[in-house]
Amino acid sequence: MTRSVAVVAIGGNSLIKDTKHQTVADQYQATVETCHHIADLIVHGWDVVITHGNGPQVGFILRRSELSRHELHEVPLDSCGADTQGAIGYMIQKALHNEFKRRGIAKQAATVVTQVLVDRNDPSFANPTKPIGSFMTQEIAAQRAQAEGWTVIEDAGRGWRRVVASPLPQRIIERDAIKCLLDSGFVVIAVGGGGIPVVEDEQGDLAGAAAVIDKDYASSLLATSIHADLLLISTAVEKVALNYGKPDQVWLDRMTLADAKRYLVEGHFAKGSMGPKIQAIVWYLERGGKEALVTNPENILRALRGETGTRVVLAGRTIVKALI
Ligand code: ADP
Ligand code: MG
Repeated sequence: MTRSVAVVAIGGNSLIKDTKHQTVADQYQATVETCHHIADLIVHGWDVVITHGNGPQVGFILRRSELSRHELHEVPLDSCGADTQGAIGYMIQKALHNEFKRRGIAKQAATVVTQVLVDRNDPSFANPTKPIGSFMTQEIAAQRAQAEGWTVIEDAGRGWRRVVASPLPQRIIERDAIKCLLDSGFVVIAVGGGGIPVVEDEQGDLAGAAAVIDKDYASSLLATSIHADLLLISTAVEKVALNYGKPDQVWLDRMTLADAKRYLVEGHFAKGSMGPKIQAIVWYLERGGKEALVTNPENILRALRGETGTRVVLAGRTIVKALI
C-alpha cells in the first residue's frame, strides 16, 4: 500500500466541546473521540501530522498567571505557547497510544515543540488586533500598558483587553525534525496553536515574540513545506456553506481553487473562523498542494470516501473521488 501524507488541523471543538466541559479531563475525553477518527485515517493508509489550536488553553494559563502575580512571575506569551503544545501534545499522544493498542496498530505518536519564524517587520506588529487574556478595567489596562508595554483596547463595551500581533508564518524552524519523524513512521503532533512565533535578529538568533500565529495558516505552511498530499481541516461543521447562517444558505460538497478565491472575496467565510481556513487552503493549493478537505471529526472517514465534507480541488473535477 502506498502511503500518502495528510496534515490534519484539529479545531477547538476537538479539545473543548462547550464551556461546561473545559477541565483537563474533559479536554482529554474530547481528544480521545477525535483521535479515534484520526486512527481510521491512519488505518486507511495515511501518514498524519496533527496540528491543533490552543486559544482557550493559553487563556487559562494567562488567567492563572494573572491571579497569582502577587506571588509568582508571569508567563510570557511564547512560553504559554510552548506549555500548551506540550500539554495538548501529551493528551493526543496518550489518546493515540490507547487507540493504537486497542486496534493492534504498531504506531507511535510524538510531539514536536515547534517554533515558527515570523518577520519582525510584519505589519501586524505595528497594528496588533488579536485579543488575549482576561478582561481588565480601564485603570488596570492603562497600568499594564505603561508597565509592560502592552497594547490594550476597549472590546465592544465588555471591558479592556490586551491585543497582540497576528503575523504571517514564514518558516517552520523544526520542519526537518517533523519530516524525519513522519518518514520514520511516527504520527507527529506539530505547530500547536499555530506554532511559537519567533523572530530572527541580524545574527540569526531566535527570540520569542509576544504574538499569535493563526493555526490554519501555520498548518497550510507545514503542509506546503513537507509536500503533504492533503490538508484536512477538522472543525465544528460538517461542510462549508455559502451564505452561512442565512435563509439562502447552501452547503458545498466541492469547490475549485478559483471558486474558493472568489467566495473569499465575496465574503462568504467569516473573518475569525472559516475565512482563515479557506485562505489557508488557497495558499496550500497555490503552492503545490493537491487537495484539501473541511469537515468535522466524526465525518473524517466518510469525507475521505467522498460521502460528505467540502472538498477543495485545483480545478475541473466535478465528481468528489474517494481518498481511501
Ligand atoms: P476552529 O476552532 O476549528 O478553528 P472556528 O470557530 O474558528 O473553529 O471556525 C469554524 C466555524 O466557522 C464553524 O463552526 C462555523 O460556525 C463558522 N463559519 C463561518 N463561516 C462559515 C461558512 N461559510 N461555512 C461554514 N461554517 C462557517
Ligand atoms: Mg479558528
